[in-house]
Amino acid sequence: MTTIHATDALEEALGAGSVSTSDADRDGASHDTWPVSTVWQKLGRHPHRPDIVVRANSTAQVQDVMRIATASGTPVTARGLGSSVTGQPLPIKGGIVLDLSGLVGAPILSEVDATVTVAAGVMGGDLESWLNERGWTMNHFPQSLYRSTIGGWIATRATGQFSSRYGGIENLVVAYECVLADGTVARLGQRPRAAMGPDLKQLLIGSEGTLGIVTEVTVKVFRLPETRVVDAFTLPSVQAGVDVMREIAQAGLKPFLVRFYDVDEAAHVVAPGTAEGPVLFLGAEGLDGVTQAEFAAAAGIARRHGAESIGSDPVTAWMGRRFDFSTVERLLAEPGGYAETVEVANMWSRLPAMYEEMKRALQPYADEVLGHFSHIYEQGSSLYLILLGRAADDEEALARLEAIWSTAMEIVVAHDGEVSHHHGGGLARQAWVERSLGTGFPVLQRLKAAFDPDGILNPGKLGM
Ligand SMILES: Cc1cc2nc3c(=O)[nH]c(=O)nc-3n(C[C@H](O)[C@H](O)[C@H](O)COP(=O)(O)OP(=O)(O)OC[C@H]3O[C@@H](n4cnc5c(N)ncnc54)[C@H](O)[C@@H]3O)c2cc1C
Repeated sequence: MTTIHATDALEEALGAGSVSTSDADRDGASHDTWPVSTVWQKLGRHPHRPDIVVRANSTAQVQDVMRIATASGTPVTARGLGSSVTGQPLPIKGGIVLDLSGLVGAPILSEVDATVTVAAGVMGGDLESWLNERGWTMNHFPQSLYRSTIGGWIATRATGQFSSRYGGIENLVVAYECVLADGTVARLGQRPRAAMGPDLKQLLIGSEGTLGIVTEVTVKVFRLPETRVVDAFTLPSVQAGVDVMREIAQAGLKPFLVRFYDVDEAAHVVAPGTAEGPVLFLGAEGLDGVTQAEFAAAAGIARRHGAESIGSDPVTAWMGRRFDFSTVERLLAEPGGYAETVEVANMWSRLPAMYEEMKRALQPYADEVLGHFSHIYEQGSSLYLILLGRAADDEEALARLEAIWSTAMEIVVAHDGEVSHHHGGGLARQAWVERSLGTGFPVLQRLKAAFDPDGILNPGKLGM
């Protein structure tokens, strides 16, 4: 079957209104929110354009698309709301971009089981508002809450601002339905745990659309917290802050908010004159008595490392603007302006040295290199760098962005860290997947061959 025949078959199965080959739709589906892609767009380049854009509104329609794609050997790249910041939904081999943002419908809340089941195309912020009206929350707050889908979260192994207490999407998901490459529907999940066989639901989490299409998701929900206590502190050094976070995690404390900014980022986050050194945001929530005790214990650890309170205002202000991305967007809109975010992770023992080297090595490629640590675990933490710069023109901006990626990734590999903590591989990290996974990479290749023998699902991603 040729592309023309695939288009005809898709129109017949889904209706002509769901299938587009217009230049505008194809151009729109050839970009995401990756700054490199934004600069390509500014330069009028669309290097990864689909041939067909298809909008599916039901699991049955996704099945139709997959059957037609398999029969015709047409690549299919799933797309939620395109909030990827690494080029994940860019169809590097053309074919079909499958827009899933029409997979919506009324969520089903189970107050007894504390779960909600929802179609994969629902935008996160819509579901969170719906839950809040009923006294519940997902406790999953990626900064892109209002520009990403539930299915996208599964596909990218997303995590949120309160993950130090509630975990990433891999901890929050209970089950999901997916459509495999040949159109077969599978439901993967556990009730609430199972010992027979591997946990199959982990297979598609973080698979970036390369193993199947997620169509419906059941996630945990939580009662809105009774109490919340927050405060901000200055710390004498980055090492002191890292030690505080490690001790909090290893003491078994679960503050919902742990964000530690280095001195460069702190200057953007707190009002001028408020703090001279790095700044730690700390917050506990839940039942009142437990929350007070947990916050006191965490703050006690911080004080033992020299923390001094600067009051809760900086945290309250951040809570009000925590989904705002306008600094990056404004800079990217300027001629020659560029901005990038690189999130990685490492064990506590290797984190400070990796942080120091990344900060030092990336300075030549940006006017500012800001850093914070915001997702903590007993064994280590994420590190998030924000790079802001102005180049002579967009071509030079592109060259700097490429240098930022290769410099950052090489340092992380050298420090035996994780090349991505939550934004995933996409095109940004494609060259580092194999080295990063090491002897695990052939396992991923076998998984891909088993799930997608014809290689039609988002080809050219996750190192394959
Ligand atoms: C301002 C901003 C802040 C962000 N903050 C965070 C953050 O705090 N935490 C975080 O984890 N991420 C963050 N991101 C990244 C991004 O929002 C997440 O990766 C998000 O999960 C992507 O969802 P999406 O629906 O937009 O997916 P898309 O960007 O459309 O697609 C992403 C990938 O998932 C695949 N995919 C999408 N939907 C499906 C599906 N239903 N089935 C199978 N594959 C699918 C696509 O093929 C692609 O490979 C941020 C992005 C922006 C722009």
